[in-house]
Amino acid sequence: MDKIHDVIIIGGGPAGLMAGFYCGTAGMKPMILESLDFLGGQSAALYPEKPVYDVPGIVECTGQQLADALTEQAMQIEPIVEYNQSVDEIKQVDGIWNLICKSGKVYKSKAVVVAIGKGAFSPIKLGFPGEDEYFGNGLTYTVKHINEYKGQEVLIVGGGDSAMDWTCTLKNVAKSVTLIHRRDGFKAHIGAVNQIKAMSQAGEIKMLIPYEIKKIEGKSKIEKVTVFNNQTNEETTLSVQSIIICAGFKPTSDSLKKWGLDLNEKGLIKTHELCKTNIPGIFAIGDATEYPGKRHLIVMEFGEAASVAGAVSTHIYGKGKGGAEWWSGPKKKKTDNIEVNNNNSTNVKPVPVKQ
Ligand SMILES: Cc1cc2nc3c(=O)[nH]c(=O)nc-3n(C[C@H](O)[C@H](O)[C@H](O)COP(=O)(O)OP(=O)(O)OC[C@H]3O[C@@H](n4cnc5c(N)ncnc54)[C@H](O)[C@@H]3O)c2cc1C
Repeated sequence: MDKIHDVIIIGGGPAGLMAGFYCGTAGMKPMILESLDFLGGQSAALYPEKPVYDVPGIVECTGQQLADALTEQAMQIEPIVEYNQSVDEIKQVDGIWNLICKSGKVYKSKAVVVAIGKGAFSPIKLGFPGEDEYFGNGLTYTVKHINEYKGQEVLIVGGGDSAMDWTCTLKNVAKSVTLIHRRDGFKAHIGAVNQIKAMSQAGEIKMLIPYEIKKIEGKSKIEKVTVFNNQTNEETTLSVQSIIICAGFKPTSDSLKKWGLDLNEKGLIKTHELCKTNIPGIFAIGDATEYPGKRHLIVMEFGEAASVAGAVSTHIYGKGKGGAEWWSGPKKKKTDNIEVNNNNSTNVKPVPVKQ
């Protein structure tokens, strides 16, 4: 008979990792199912080298350092982690949750915590000529290694926080940074926009608004990009080796729609007190959720992770069993302690340890 786990957490981003940690400190043995082949969610996948300044107790770290630290912290309570398992369906059979993955594997648990972020994400494309052709040859939607941009002339496209972040970060690394945005209004925080405008006025970066890409030129790699003013049609050709498109990511939440959870108009899970959803036994935390006062910040996800552990404990054991408390720490320091599922050992990776 298949093992019935206490709780399965869907998603190994900041929310899922800390939910695993707190469920462990509350005496449960959690399982984390992650559709990617690494943990850390957006911080590892989308901004591994971006500085993060707003996680309490950490003055400054990169997205990857945060992902590594969260992973190491969560692994102390020895969760079972399964990589490359994208949960597609959730069904209740005789009071037990059956989580059916796209791989065909089925995992069973007494409770479920949905921590899928905005879903399995893919970049939004802008549709200009050459976008697909130059993808991977200088054109990217995510920045993995800042040093790749050393000495390069970089074009950043977008008006959101990612575009502002990368403009700020890469101006100190690249030979030059040009930011183009198709309209006057910005989605980014006003503070970040003002900072970028000040940098443009000081000549530290170039900013072109309202501009879009017209064409890319170059033999196999990008050499030149022609951009145009979408109001006057005036064209400018820039010498560029790298283009970073920051138009956002489309969450693929098709699976989520099948789970019967109440979603709001943005497709986010409506949660109530103690991270409860409309379905008893299914809880939700992190970027996947929205409720009055919610901010999509890591600091909020940590609080939700602690809260959901108590709620899951009560759901499984009834009142009085307690939830996440101060933890007295591991009995001994462990760094490579993911439980190995022998049926699927290729799926289990050692815990990345910060050197
Ligand atoms: C460019 C950028 C910069 C940011 N900077 C900051 C910052 O400085 N400070 C801050 O507080 N916040 C920042 N954020 C926001 C922060 O990263 C998110 O709030 C946080 O990652 C959300 O954590 P999460 O665990 O809920 O979701 P995610 O990080 O999205 O993790 C969800 C995980 O679930 C997995 N998953 C999805 N669907 C399935 C499925 N069906 N089955 C199995 N696994 C699944 C995904 O692969 C992913 O690993 C930034 C975001 C971006 C995009």
